[in-house]
This record gives sequence, C-alpha cells and structure tokens, in this order.
Amino acid sequence: MNFSAVIVAGGSGKRFGAKQPKQFLLLNKKQMFLWSVIAFKKLKECKQIILVVPEDKIKFMQKYKKIYGLDIVCGGKERYDSVKNGLEYVKDNIDFVAIHDGARPLITSEIIKKVLTVAVRYGAAIAASVAKDSIKISKDGKKIIKSTDRNTVWQAQTPQIFKTKILKKVYSKKIPKTITDDSQLVEKSGEKVMLVDAGYENFKVTHPMDFKLAELILKKRN
Ligand code: C5P
Repeated sequence: MNFSAVIVAGGSGKRFGAKQPKQFLLLNKKQMFLWSVIAFKKLKECKQIILVVPEDKIKFMQKYKKIYGLDIVCGGKERYDSVKNGLEYVKDNIDFVAIHDGARPLITSEIIKKVLTVAVRYGAAIAASVAKDSIKISKDGKKIIKSTDRNTVWQAQTPQIFKTKILKKVYSKKIPKTITDDSQLVEKSGEKVMLVDAGYENFKVTHPMDFKLAELILKKRN
C-alpha cells in the first residue's frame, strides 16, 4: 500500500492579515508549510509529496523541490481548484491520496498513520475532533434556532485520505462552490467516510493568535 500527499498551500491567507500568505511565514525557524512536509516525509508509505503554492511562489520553491523531493504545482482560485491541480500530478499506481492543509503545521506522522490505517480499511477517513463547546445553530448570527448535541458534532481537520479512484472520480465532476473540504465531495457521492479522533493540537493557523500558539507547541515538542 502506498500513498501520495497533496499539501495545499495555495491560499492568499487574507484573514491572517500578514504581508505574505501565512503558510510561508517563519514558524520556529521553518516556513510553516515545511512542518507538514517533514511529517509526511517520515512515513515510508508516502511515495510522493505534491506541494501546491500560489503562482508567484513557484520559482522560490524550486530549492525545496531538490531538498525534499517535492513536486511543485500552481494553486487555483479556491481551495478545491488547488486540490484539483495537485491531483493531476499524482503518479500512476498510487493507492491512496492524502490531502493536507499547509496551514496545519502541527500535524504529526502518528496522526497521519492513524488516518491512513482507517482509510485503508474503509476507503476514506479524515482527521477530526469532537466539539468541546455547546453547539448553537443560527441563520442570522443573532437568534438561536436550536441547540444540538455536541457529542454528534465533529470539526473536520486534515489530512483527509481517500482511495485514489474515489477522489479522482469526485474531482472529475462539477464541484459545488460551497465545499470547504474534500470529504464533503466524497460524502455527497455516497461513499462512506470515517472519522479519526486527532485531538485538538492539529488546528489550522487562521488568526495571529493561532500562530503564537503553534509556535509555543512546536517549541515544547522540540
Ligand atoms: O482558506 P483556508 O484557511 O481554509 O485554507 C486551507 C488551506 O488551503 C491552506 O493551507 C491554504 O493555503 C490552502 N488553499 C489553497 N488554495 C486556495 C485557498 C486555500 O491551496 N485557493
């Protein structure tokens, strides 16, 4: 069994508010996306790492192509466009594809392995964490429509790992503009997707506060 990793780092990171996209900022002396590359590199089943970056970063990334043996691919307008571009570079005879956000630098090879094991068994699996807070539903962000049992609410993370055939099939069709992760597409196609509890450290760096927290956790790990 083997797999390819597609690390999507092609976003503009507008919500973060830095001069360059957050995934390229130095986090504990390494550009943020590199922490994910290193975690995937440790797994012998990982035969290829495809890094998706904004067009203006392609030239700069060539040095990493050599050091880490990466395939560097140009990103698209939306996250799903970037995933689609990356998928085109998956080598032949690859059994599974792992999609991972370059903005989740706290991923570990242990979590990847855990998700991979479940994906191999069921065809598709994603890292996730169960909601900690009470959950309220509201349409206008003002009035609560209802509360729901938090034990049934899971927050999707990455990696999300799928049989190559399944993922390529869903990405060959028209993609609804509302999708924010790959699992949604696979779920809609009727395939079973399994949850893997990955805890709370594998968060996505979205705001400057997340960046500070990621820095502290990485320092503690070292
Ligand atoms: O925007 P968001 O934080 O949800 O993005 C998740 C991941 O997808 C990030 O690593 C980001 O760089 C990537 N992305 C991408 N191409 C886009 C938008 C986001 O590769 N057009």
